[in-house]
Amino acid sequence: MNDAFERRRTLTLKRGKERVIANRHPWIFAGAIHSERGPEDAAIADLVDSDGKRLASGFYSRTSQIRLRALTFGEDITPQLIATRIADAIARRRFIFDDTTDAARIINAEGDELSGLVVDRYHDLAVVEIANRGVEQVKQLIIDGLKSVASRIWFKNDLPVRRLEQLPTENEPVEATTIVESGLRFRIDPGEGQKTGFFLDQRENRRLARTLASGKRVLNLFSYTGAFGVYAASGGATAVTNVDVSARAIELARENHALNERAADFIVADAFQYVRQQRERFDFIVCDPPAFAKSRSDVDRAARGYKDVNLHAMKLIEPGGLLMTFSCSGHMSLDLFQKVIFAAALDAGRRVSFVRRLTAGPDHPVSVYCPEGEYLKGFLLEVR
Ligand code: SAH
Repeated sequence: MNDAFERRRTLTLKRGKERVIANRHPWIFAGAIHSERGPEDAAIADLVDSDGKRLASGFYSRTSQIRLRALTFGEDITPQLIATRIADAIARRRFIFDDTTDAARIINAEGDELSGLVVDRYHDLAVVEIANRGVEQVKQLIIDGLKSVASRIWFKNDLPVRRLEQLPTENEPVEATTIVESGLRFRIDPGEGQKTGFFLDQRENRRLARTLASGKRVLNLFSYTGAFGVYAASGGATAVTNVDVSARAIELARENHALNERAADFIVADAFQYVRQQRERFDFIVCDPPAFAKSRSDVDRAARGYKDVNLHAMKLIEPGGLLMTFSCSGHMSLDLFQKVIFAAALDAGRRVSFVRRLTAGPDHPVSVYCPEGEYLKGFLLEVR
């Protein structure tokens, strides 16, 4: 392990690229690097100026455009430094875990100054996502750091980015587990689910939905595991309808409602078609689609998709009802999403107001130096 910290790559910054360092952004791209020396398969690299002075250090990747994921800007990197960052990230979340909640993201990459590493804890199980070759080589430090919070550690290797990093993409088998979140139970199967098995980032918004659901007919669009539906039902909704295009997702939603002894309707359908064809009205709609914009060039098309589904959802809302709507596309700015909602409201011919701005929970901190980490944005709207 210590060897990984001694056999280092040295990267020399290109002249004129000093701003990259001054801004402390953790992603140092190949285009900012003049030359490289030292072992190509090094886990750690130092970025130096033309006089050889160390400017930044972090995880190295020879295959990625993000050549260096900087953890420090001047300070040396040691196993102890990484162990401390892991321990700090875990300690930062202590307030989230109690008798009623045993799942949260415990390491959020740049937000915890550990670029390249994401860890979600589900009850007894830690699900680890490693997105960089350097991080992969210090796996043992991660395993050691997680021992205090999880009895099982599972590496989710099928991330597309790992192919680019020339890392294994095969998953080991993993047994499912059951979490409690806000006193509700959910079945988590990280081996087959989307993301790491659950959308932990929506916890706070689900809690808000629960407090708003009493006496309401609720429609949960893009329901996935039915999590918003379960919360709404437990908050006293008179009816809950979960809609997802994936039959497997609807099956999971059914299981989770049963686990919490909550009734609901389950519909396998394309949400875009469903909202167009639906005649029934609802008092509260949750709309949490997948990331429509996977890249910057997709943004226009994605904006049309968001507008379409929100426009038709607004039309289905009883006057005075609520719409909780999200975009989890990193490429879609808050500003643009707000414009999309404006356009949808205008075309729906409804009077709509922003009641609250929504974002990911406190277990998803975002580094001010890496705003790319903020992807989830949402609004609670009142539709009159
Ligand atoms: N709201 C969920 C997360 C939603 S993830 C939660 O809190 O857990 C997005 C979901 O949208 C996925 O389950 C996916 O199957 C579904 N989906 C994708 N395209 C869809 C479409 N056109 N119509 C309905 N569901 C769709």
